[in-house]
Amino acid sequence: MIELRSLTKKYGSFTAVDSIDLSVPDGQLFGFLGPNGAGKTTTLRMIAGILQPTAGSIHLAGIDLSADPLAAKAKLGFIPDRPFIYEKLTGAEFLRFVAGLYGQDGDKVEHRGRELMALFDLEEWADELVESYSHGMRQKLIISSAFIHRPDVIVVDEPMVGLDPKAARILKDLFREYVRRGHTIMMSTHTLEVAEALCDRIAIIQHGKIRAVGTIQDLRAEATGGGGLEEIFLRLTGERAARDAMEVLDA
Ligand code: ATP
Repeated sequence: MIELRSLTKKYGSFTAVDSIDLSVPDGQLFGFLGPNGAGKTTTLRMIAGILQPTAGSIHLAGIDLSADPLAAKAKLGFIPDRPFIYEKLTGAEFLRFVAGLYGQDGDKVEHRGRELMALFDLEEWADELVESYSHGMRQKLIISSAFIHRPDVIVVDEPMVGLDPKAARILKDLFREYVRRGHTIMMSTHTLEVAEALCDRIAIIQHGKIRAVGTIQDLRAEATGGGGLEEIFLRLTGERAARDAMEVLDA
C-alpha cells in the first residue's frame, strides 16, 4: 500500500506539490492524472525516494520512507519517465544488475528475467548490448526490471509511451494480474482511455493539489454532466478545449 500524508515539495518559493493526502490500498491499480506541470512526476519521484519532500510523509507497505529508506525502497519498483540504463550491459545483465541492487540473485532471478524478456518479445535480444535497443525495447526492459524483484508496490511514470500496441496490451495484462495478486500500482498517464480501462481509482492533480479522487463513477458524479474520462478531466481541471485552437488559428 501507499500512504501519502500532507506531502509537499517546494522548488524555492514555488510549490510543485501542495500538501497532498492519498491512500492506495493493496490490490489496487491507481491512476494519477493531471495537466502538464501539475506535479505528477514530482510526486512519483518523492515516492520512489529520489526526491526529498519539503514536508509530509510517505509510507510504502507500512514502512515510513524517511525513517527507514532502505527497507521502504526494498518494497518498491519504479519505472521512471526518463529512465537511465547502462548502455554497455546486455538486457539480461541489466536485469541481473537490478535484482542484485535488491539483494536477489540465483536461479529464481534468472528464471524471472527470462520469463519477463520472453513476455515482451525480447528473448532474442537478451544477450545484446542495450545500446543496440530501440526506444520501445528499452522501455520494455525498464518495465521488466521493475518486476524482477517482485516488489509490493510499483510506481510508474507514463508507462505506455513508446510501446507498440502489442506491448501496451501485454503491459496492461501484467499490471492487472499484478494487482489481482494483492500488489499495489500507482501510474501516471496522459492516455485517458488507458486510465479509464485499467484503473480501479483515479486522482486528478492540478497546480500541485488533488482536484478529485475516486472511481470513474465518483469522478463523473463530481464533474456533473457524465461523459467519458476526457470530458470529466477537462471539466474538473477547467482546461481549454479544442475550440480555443480554432480561435487561435482564426486570429
Ligand atoms: P508533465 O505532465 O508535463 O510531465 P508533471 O505533472 O509530471 O508534468 P512535474 O514534472 O511534477 O509535472 O512538475 C511540477 C511543477 O514543478 C512544474 O511547474 C515544473 O516546472 C516544476 N518543477 C519540476 N522540477 C523542477 C525543478 N527541478 N526545479 C524547479 N521547478 C521544477
